[in-house]
Amino acid sequence: MTRRILIIEDTPTIARVQKHIAQKVGYEADIAGNLAEAKKLISEHNYFCAVVDFILPDAPLGEAVPCTIAADIPTIVMTGNLDETTRNIVEKHPIIDYITKENKQAYQYLEKQLARLPRNEQILVLVVDDSKATRQLICHLLARHKYQTIEAVDGVDALRVLAENPTISVIITDNEMPNMSGAELCVEIRRLYSNDEKAIIGISAYDTLHLSTRFLKSGADDYLRKPFNNEEFYCRLSQNVDMLENIKTIRLQANTDYLTKLPNRRYFFGEANRHLKAAKQAGSSVSLGMIDIDHFKSINDNYGHNAGDEVLKALSHHMTQYFADNLVGRFGGEEFAVYFADQDPEEALQRLEKFRAFIEKHSPEFSKEQIHFTLSIGFHHQPIYSLDELIKQADLKLYQAKESGRNKLVS
Ligand code: GH3
Ligand code: MG
Ligand code: MG
Ligand code: MG
Repeated sequence: MTRRILIIEDTPTIARVQKHIAQKVGYEADIAGNLAEAKKLISEHNYFCAVVDFILPDAPLGEAVPCTIAADIPTIVMTGNLDETTRNIVEKHPIIDYITKENKQAYQYLEKQLARLPRNEQILVLVVDDSKATRQLICHLLARHKYQTIEAVDGVDALRVLAENPTISVIITDNEMPNMSGAELCVEIRRLYSNDEKAIIGISAYDTLHLSTRFLKSGADDYLRKPFNNEEFYCRLSQNVDMLENIKTIRLQANTDYLTKLPNRRYFFGEANRHLKAAKQAGSSVSLGMIDIDHFKSINDNYGHNAGDEVLKALSHHMTQYFADNLVGRFGGEEFAVYFADQDPEEALQRLEKFRAFIEKHSPEFSKEQIHFTLSIGFHHQPIYSLDELIKQADLKLYQAKESGRNKLVS
């Protein structure tokens, strides 16, 4: 879904820069050069958000700001300079943010904010407070930045809501609550979930002795004192969300093979071993296929290393589609593995054989040089539930497939 943004700006060069930034982060952008044009566009389209210049020819006192706010459009205000009068007007309206144009980082900051808004729609925040009014206030602030929200009335309730909603990634909690305090809740959350999975921000009206450190030592990532300033609230929140996202990205990179984007060997081992433990208890069936491209070295020799890379990528792409329900991994070079959890071994065998035949027939379609290649596959079905043993046996079969002429499956 493309999101539409309204840029209200009377200086064409600035409007163009903003449009470029918005498009770069995935928006479809409309430009209005004055308030009248903006009003017309607002009546014609639904806008996901707006970037509004504070001073316009037909709106010299920031009159465009209440106009987008009234239309329920999340608004970022761009101001030339931030004197007291401007600041007062800007702060009177529930805008997302204001950015001073003279700031060198203004456009970088704008890009960051525009990229965040669609992302926030995917983030579920749990607000824990025994005061309904405070919960509502915080939820309003969150909704303004497009976060999804869910509420709990105390620590005990929060734990229940967390268990029922595994996608919650941020918890904002008051400290003084009946049944279970915020600090106690932090300890309990950290027993169940790590800092990498969920961020906690503690909030309290009373700065009783060392409450901030108590919160942090109980496992919170941040602390805010009531009444807090909205800007500080948003800054701390987005910093924590950024941190969670960075960890997620790093983890994904650590688990993924750079060339083919398939799970790498390390991730494959972790996941397969986890499943094997459960399979052993349940006594369920597991099997493994080792797949190796035949004479891959000569593809590199004849067509070049880049063409070899393209073959690896195309094969991986088809493996992900063909074995969508199974765990696939690149073991190294031109060797891959498929782990079949809870699948009838006969069925697994058939799927591998079908895949071998598919590659034999269609591999020339994968590259512009029409490189034809084939696969040798070793398959093993193992009742002993050891990954090393499964791999060893499948490898032996793979060796037999190579020795007996390649382009075949041995089980
Ligand atoms: P066999 O049929 O016995 O498997 O022969 P083969 O040539 O496929 O096997 P061999 O192990 O002798 O050679 C594998 C080649 O794969 C050698 C190596 O340079 C190449 N290779 C390993 N990783 C990559 C890669 O990421 N990209 C490319 N293009 N080549 C790679
Ligand atoms: Mg202007
Ligand atoms: Mg090979
Ligand atoms: Mg090899």
